[in-house]
Amino acid sequence: MPSTTSRKTEQSRRLQQRAESMIPGGVNSPVRAFRSVGGDPLFIVRGKGSHIWDADENEFIDYIGSWGPLILGHAEANVLDAIVAAACNGTSFGASTPSEADLAELVLGAFPHMQKVRFVSSGTEATMSAIRLARAYTKRKYIVKFEGCYHGHADALLVKAGSGVATLGIPGSAGVPEEFTQFTLALPFNNLSVVEHAFQKFKHQIACVIVEPVVGNMGCVPAADDYLVGLRMLTERERSVLIFDEVMTGFRVSFGGAQELYNIRPDLTTMGKIIGGGLPVGAYGGPKEIMDMVAPLGPMYQAGTLSGNPLAMAAGCAMLKQLRDRKGEIYPRLEKLSGELVEGVAAAAKEAGVPLCHNRVGSMFTWFFNKGPVTDWDSASKSNTEAFGKFFRSMLDSGVYLPPSQYEAAFLGAAHTEDDVQRTIAAAKQAFEAVKK
Ligand SMILES: *Cc1c(COP(=O)(O)O)cnc(C)c1O
Repeated sequence: MPSTTSRKTEQSRRLQQRAESMIPGGVNSPVRAFRSVGGDPLFIVRGKGSHIWDADENEFIDYIGSWGPLILGHAEANVLDAIVAAACNGTSFGASTPSEADLAELVLGAFPHMQKVRFVSSGTEATMSAIRLARAYTKRKYIVKFEGCYHGHADALLVKAGSGVATLGIPGSAGVPEEFTQFTLALPFNNLSVVEHAFQKFKHQIACVIVEPVVGNMGCVPAADDYLVGLRMLTERERSVLIFDEVMTGFRVSFGGAQELYNIRPDLTTMGKIIGGGLPVGAYGGPKEIMDMVAPLGPMYQAGTLSGNPLAMAAGCAMLKQLRDRKGEIYPRLEKLSGELVEGVAAAAKEAGVPLCHNRVGSMFTWFFNKGPVTDWDSASKSNTEAFGKFFRSMLDSGVYLPPSQYEAAFLGAAHTEDDVQRTIAAAKQAFEAVKK
């Protein structure tokens, strides 16, 4: 593992050693650990707009944005003001506060197929609850998920999951009894006939199909033409619940998420990331008929001590209001700048003779060190992760912070500038030379 770098790293290294003595791997979420790319993880002390600073005072252009939430950049003034104002009135009551309906109104306004929404504290809770609800509603046991899709770390969903599970090469996870995943059918993504076959084999037994409508957790992999429509038709015919996991794509690929972008109505939608404005929030929602099965109205139990937390609701409201009021400006700009960046880097790879393909939907994207095309987990997993590691480390030395894994989407936000993009392309030119060495 080459630890030669032109950056100062003493402070981050010291902080990592301190953390490692108390926290497994020194991290509270595995993909932060740089295990698949080598080198030492950064300790971040500050962020503003599209830039972050580490404990050694290095400055980076940030393309992680907290793994998606920070579409308006770090320390955005309106979000900060909202959090401070809410905090001054108390941080949590375990009772209802007015801001919960404010955020619900904003979410339902953006997602017209949802009539009711329940807030939780993470994307994991959102998908876990949506699946429980789909099972309660259909009175069926089986669920269909797709290889390389990540829906949080609930037991039944850690089967051929993407994100850190893919990065670390963990087959599912230890500690999950096989009985807990016996009703989970993990099928290849972008292949309708295997889904059709599953519905035949498990006739009237499949409660739901859960999908990332644009996958972000095996790197960015869009659905093929008609794939999502096909899933919609199949689930409708089989009276199975279609769940769009829009934890990443909601308010990202368009204001109304992937369902607006592709004009498809799922039954249930899960959200997280952007709707919390950088604080912990998740949500699941859908038509009244299904949502009214949730306790206290119905028999499906789901609860949370800090759910609907006033600080998190305030941050989410401040974020979504800006996205709503400026969507005509923000989303077209994200599209244009992301296109420039992704294609600029791809052109640099071509010039350097480095095999690379790219996938992008709006401001989420991945450069795969792979001839391509990447359309599912099998094709994604053929990527040259060693080359990615070299690329990643060189970019970091040039002041560009990318996700420390080939199998995680990168994000551009409204705070990124033309200058950021040009500097990133210049850094990539240098990085591809390092890859060839
Ligand atoms: C991030 C993510 C989750 C999990 O959300 P957490 O807040 O990390 O629990 C679930 N689904 C998708 C699609 C995600 O990107």
